[in-house]
Amino acid sequence: MLKDQETLESPSVARRFVDGCGRTISYLRLSVTDRCDLRCRYCMSERPDFLPKSDVLTLEELYRVACLFVAHGIETIRITGGEPLVRKNLMDLLRPLGDMLKAREGYSSLKALTLTSNGTQLERYAEDLFSCGIRRVNVSLDSLDEKVFSHLTRGGSLGLVLAGIDAALRAGLKVKINCVALDGVNVDTPEVDRLLAWCGERGCDLTFIEVMPMGDIGNEKRLQQFYPLTELRRSISQRWTLEKSSHRSGGPARYVRCLETGKNIGFISPLTENFCDGCTRVRVTCTGMLYPCLGQESGANLRKLLRNPQSDGRADAALSDRIASVVLKKTRGHDFVIDSSNRASVSRTMNATGG
Ligand code: SAM
Ligand code: SF4
Repeated sequence: MLKDQETLESPSVARRFVDGCGRTISYLRLSVTDRCDLRCRYCMSERPDFLPKSDVLTLEELYRVACLFVAHGIETIRITGGEPLVRKNLMDLLRPLGDMLKAREGYSSLKALTLTSNGTQLERYAEDLFSCGIRRVNVSLDSLDEKVFSHLTRGGSLGLVLAGIDAALRAGLKVKINCVALDGVNVDTPEVDRLLAWCGERGCDLTFIEVMPMGDIGNEKRLQQFYPLTELRRSISQRWTLEKSSHRSGGPARYVRCLETGKNIGFISPLTENFCDGCTRVRVTCTGMLYPCLGQESGANLRKLLRNPQSDGRADAALSDRIASVVLKKTRGHDFVIDSSNRASVSRTMNATGG
């Protein structure tokens, strides 16, 4: 069990982290591992080099990072990876984070604790997540066709993921489905319509994501994978009634409401439409790298400061100063480009960044 930190007892929120464009940072994506039980072709190579275990932050260190951000006014923490549910004893981190939600009034800025998962372990952990205070999860589901799913994930079981989603819904979790649009794989009309209807039947919102040129993915070619969401949206709107929606999630997604299903459809389209302007997110990886932007190479290593044997107060002040100076460099937009060179725009893969 993690010991309580000073932050829980402190009712005041320290200065908020503000970037160079004047945006107040309100959302932290905290990656707890780069490991995963799937090998999605757009995310990593078949035999990825995972980060050295000695560099991976302990649950206590991750909790300390989270507390520090909460002390500076962060309102949402999304736990991610790699696959977060393969991290051993993850609930020992989530429980005290959930306690910060309960202790919110007057004590903590934290309003939501969420998680992104591939769903394979949800059947086992859905109830635990709910009891830790999590109410919403995002689950990646790129195809409802067993063969396509298995090919895309290099051997993953669709049945396991669907059972995980059902378990999450039964446990009372709201589930949003994430689907990476992949040319020639999952963007044809029957496949898209099936996913839209399936989400509607289960009361799930659905967000499509453009593939992003991140890291070495072996023999796979980004240009071949890429499918523009402007095109997908146009095609969906020919068959479904889409209404403008003002729904926002603090990131680059834009939403419409599908009248037939009554659910939101999100589009994260960094390549065809850049909606970085209102982004108030930052990411901390499982090794303590702070990235102010998903699509920029620059970041800063917090691990040394986290492992500095100074007394907690001084070390936390040094960490806060470091974070504030890095956040200040958050730029207005990303550096993603997909072209025939098939070069990655940033060298780290998504699983190592915390997607
Ligand atoms: N393992 C969990 C999952 O798959 O949901 C959480 C981590 S995963 C890196 C987070 C999200 O990033 C998933 O929705 C996944 O589909 C997406 N993703 C991974 N690599 C991507 C890429 N190169 N471009 C766009 N999205 C990507
Ligand atoms: Fe694993 Fe998620 Fe990457 Fe797929 S997208 S390989 S599930 S981390």
